[in-house]
Amino acid sequence: MSGGQRQRLGIARALACDPKLIVCDEPISALDVSIQAQIINLFKELQSKFNLTYLFIAHDLAVVRHIAKTIGVMYLGKIVEITKASDLYDNPLHPYTKALLSAVPLIDYHKEKKRSRIVLKGDIPSPINPPPGCPFHPRCAEATEICRRKMPQLKEVDSGHKVACHNV
Ligand code: SF4
Repeated sequence: MSGGQRQRLGIARALACDPKLIVCDEPISALDVSIQAQIINLFKELQSKFNLTYLFIAHDLAVVRHIAKTIGVMYLGKIVEITKASDLYDNPLHPYTKALLSAVPLIDYHKEKKRSRIVLKGDIPSPINPPPGCPFHPRCAEATEICRRKMPQLKEVDSGHKVACHNV
């Protein structure tokens, strides 16, 4: 079977037990781009047909934007920002989310030309031995003194928009 066929088989097996929730862990990352679109459309079709909820885990932010209603951004195993999809793309607040989104190419040529990419310094620390305070502080351009000693908690900063950052 091809990658796309195997993926369809996996989806069919998941549906066979009549679930309400399906956890999709990087379901399309190993697929060819043309097949990715087919599988994403299949996910959307099945979602409305069977009234499903997906927990969709992915690195491709363009795909996430296409399929998700609510998005949680994770860093070192913790959610650092969670909100409605449209909110996240229009108004990212956490410095890590801003950096991630700055790397996604825009279709609008003029907007794309005007903006600059945020390049993060350093490597991702080990989750076994995370830095003290905010785990993102060694790489964050907006870090202040408090970030080095106190872990920020996830707080609601706008209706349904939660962020874990001392400086938001
Ligand atoms: S808490 Fe500080 S280090 Fe962490 S993301 Fe916010 S500004 Fe950056």
